[in-house]
Amino acid sequence: MISKFLEHIDACPTAHHVVDRVASILHQSGFDQVALNSGFTTEHLRSGFISSGGTIIAWKNAQSFAVHGLRIVGAHTDSPGLHVKPNPDTRTLNWHQLEVEVYGGPLLNSWLDRDLGIAGHAVLRDGSTSLFASRHPVARIPQLAIHLDREVNDKGLILNRHQHLSPIWATTASSVPFESWLAQQISVSTSQIASWSAQLVDTQKAQIIGRESEFVASSRIDNQISCWAALSALLNCESDQPMMIALYDHEEVGSQSAQGAGGPILEHVLERLSIAAGSSRSEYLVSLQKSHCVSADNAHAVHPNYVDRHELNNAPFVNEGVVVKTNVSQRYATSPKSLVPIVHAAATAGVNLQTFSSRNNIACGSTIGPITATRIGIETVDIGVPQLSMHSIREMCGIKDPVDLIALIGAYFSRS
Ligand code: ZN
Repeated sequence: MISKFLEHIDACPTAHHVVDRVASILHQSGFDQVALNSGFTTEHLRSGFISSGGTIIAWKNAQSFAVHGLRIVGAHTDSPGLHVKPNPDTRTLNWHQLEVEVYGGPLLNSWLDRDLGIAGHAVLRDGSTSLFASRHPVARIPQLAIHLDREVNDKGLILNRHQHLSPIWATTASSVPFESWLAQQISVSTSQIASWSAQLVDTQKAQIIGRESEFVASSRIDNQISCWAALSALLNCESDQPMMIALYDHEEVGSQSAQGAGGPILEHVLERLSIAAGSSRSEYLVSLQKSHCVSADNAHAVHPNYVDRHELNNAPFVNEGVVVKTNVSQRYATSPKSLVPIVHAAATAGVNLQTFSSRNNIACGSTIGPITATRIGIETVDIGVPQLSMHSIREMCGIKDPVDLIALIGAYFSRS
């Protein structure tokens, strides 16, 4: 089963690729896409999905939303990294480089000396969108040789975000402008491209590693593993209870966008489903109070070389179960009450639950959980798969926990 995830992650170098692939799988499974600029009808209640940019929301059995409320699993499609800037071509001596911008909070050092591809999407003048992903490594951010920086191993690497991250991708003698290269990728002329978005991506494929083949090493484990688990559970679940997955872009930069969890997209879909089912505004608000949300995003597994960075009573282990994340400052949305459906689902699915709480002197991250809870007022719980190297270009998790997450979400959707 884990091989399906590896396949998925390799096929999805960007959030837009995630949406494209998830939409195609949903379509093959009988889900109809509803255009955001058209009305929802009763036919859309049984199953359907909408997408906008790097965000996709899919549901099943929404005809009984008013009676039972919806169970929603949220996750994010984006990952931290380096995006190509507009007018990226820059030349230093005889090197042709690209200007890049830092997206979110990547471990910048992990992007050095990697064989990088470039992936993204272009919007053509006719309004259509073309995805692209270079099949071969085309760029590299070379590290400075130890001989030119003798103290780096003892004093640590300091990277100037503007000066030190521009990849080289050609010598000027052979250089083609970036937009010409991009046009070749999608087999159009540069004049047909109205606009584009591109980012550097690791070309190394996802892999199972470890002496006992217990681990997964890959880019984008945070948080495509939760997207994949949510999708798998939605497709596999045979219950007639109302259920939904909401996979958002822009989580890594704070979720404040039209497609992000801080925007109105989920709220609008919920209200439009409620209206399509014939409910009044008041009945819709009651439906929300019967609903529940799981925010699925990865957690920090305990790192054996940095045990002092963890609170050891609440430090999860890889391959020992799904993690429940709590934070009294509401960086995670979990409350004693909101956790109950997950406790039941874990018992039904036979999945072990672990806990995560950060040290008091180390600020923890956050997720779409508190944003969803604040925006829509639905009880929300934060859970996720434990991993190491979060926000590295090459992250690592166990092979068992993602499978447990699918089983847990399946039981949660079934309410069994
Ligand atoms: Zn994440």
